[in-house]
Amino acid sequence: MDTAGILRLRGIQPSPQRMRIYEALASTRAHPSADSIHRSLRAELPSLSRTTVYSTLELFVRVGLAQELAIMGSELRFDADVSAHAHFACRSCGSLGDLALELPGLPSLPGGYHAERAQFFVLGTCPACS
Ligand SMILES: [Zn+2]
Ligand SMILES: [Zn+2]
Repeated sequence: MDTAGILRLRGIQPSPQRMRIYEALASTRAHPSADSIHRSLRAELPSLSRTTVYSTLELFVRVGLAQELAIMGSELRFDADVSAHAHFACRSCGSLGDLALELPGLPSLPGGYHAERAQFFVLGTCPACS
């Protein structure tokens, strides 16, 4: 399916900016921040603001086209792979990669708590930084 179709399926009007933001996110495994997507599109879309990139990514998260990854002390990162998977975060260079690990399901919680999703991170040093 093309990008416009993917967005329409989730009820999103496929403007050129939204399509390019989705493509920029879906074409990398680097789990970019809003800032880095903004930087990568700035030459091509000079009128695109960082705020628009951020709000568009949040829109993708709301409709299930992306997940956001909040790692201690760093800016939010985004992932077009919405399946549950583990990540490795390098403390030194800030790179964020996928880890092929078997993940446990959501834990059972005390009454009154409602689990939506769980994130699993391994923090450490990547091969390039070791
Ligand atoms: Zn590193
Ligand atoms: Zn990922």
